Amino acid sequence: MREQWRAYRNGREVLREVDVVMQASVVTVCAHCGVPCSGIYRFWYELDGELMMVDADQPTIDEYMAELVESAGPDGYADLSAMVRAGNEGTGWADSSTHPFGADVGVEGFEDFVSGLRTTSAATWSADLVDALHQLAAMSALHGTTIYAMDD
Ligand SMILES: [Zn+2]
Repeated sequence: MREQWRAYRNGREVLREVDVVMQASVVTVCAHCGVPCSGIYRFWYELDGELMMVDADQPTIDEYMAELVESAGPDGYADLSAMVRAGNEGTGWADSSTHPFGADVGVEGFEDFVSGLRTTSAATWSADLVDALHQLAAMSALHGTTIYAMDD
């Protein structure tokens, strides 16, 4: 599926054409708009010029990241995975103004993130999401590529 991504840098429009192959889409479609209007996070690795993609519901992931931050407390915060801290702070991959086309989070960084999600209620309530993310990490590792994450 061909997509055109659009961003603005220094007041100028930047476009990127990508080919997306959807591996899983775990998003919530709004009853009012018929689209996932509350936002999605996108995770992918590149293979032969195509983006192998998992789309995830942003509020759902945010809820699990908040669970991790809360259970870690101030003393354990630094031990949280880098992706969770960035997500919590709206920096790095979670900052769409500095990384409009996603950020390289690395397979290990992504695996840490998924391992963290497994310790939250996501393991119970979003097993399909956790499985899809885990599968993405496994396939990326198999192909020796890296993983990108994006706040869309
Ligand atoms: Zn809506």
